[in-house]
Amino acid sequence: MLVQKISDGTVIDHITAGKALSVLRLLGDPQARGDTVALVMNVSSSKMKRKDIVKVEGVEISEEQVQKLALIAPQASVNIIRSYRVVDKKNAVPPKLLSGVLNCNNPTCVSVKENDSVSPIFSLAEISPLSYQCKYCGRKLGEQDILSQLG
Ligand code: ZN
Repeated sequence: MLVQKISDGTVIDHITAGKALSVLRLLGDPQARGDTVALVMNVSSSKMKRKDIVKVEGVEISEEQVQKLALIAPQASVNIIRSYRVVDKKNAVPPKLLSGVLNCNNPTCVSVKENDSVSPIFSLAEISPLSYQCKYCGRKLGEQDILSQLG
C-alpha cells in the first residue's frame, strides 16, 4: 500500500467500506482547503471484510467530529499524528445516549414542536445497521437518516 506516512495530521482507519467520502465531508472537505488527503478505499482487512482509510495532513480531528464519525463509521479508529508519531488514539464508538447531534424526524414529536426548550435525546437501538431511537416519541432513525443529517 503506497500511502506515504504523514508528519502531522489525522489517520482514520477501519472506516466502513464506501464511507470514506462521507468522512471527508465530516472533516469539512479538507482537500478543498488545500490540505493533502490520501484515500484508500475498499481494501481487505482482518478486522472487517472491506474497509476504507482516510489520511489528512495538517488537520486534527475534534472531539465533536469523532462523535459524529462514530455515527458514520462505527468501527473507525483514529490516530492523531505529530512529527510522524502517534500522539493520540481514539475509537469511534456510537454512544448509548446521544444529545444535541441528531434531530427527530417526527413532526409531532415534542422535541420538534418545543425545540427551544426540549433538546433531542436518542438512545442507541442497534449497532449494525446503526439506528437510534428518539427518547420522546420512539421514532427510529436509520443509517440513511443519520447520514443525511450529518451530511
Ligand atoms: Zn421524537
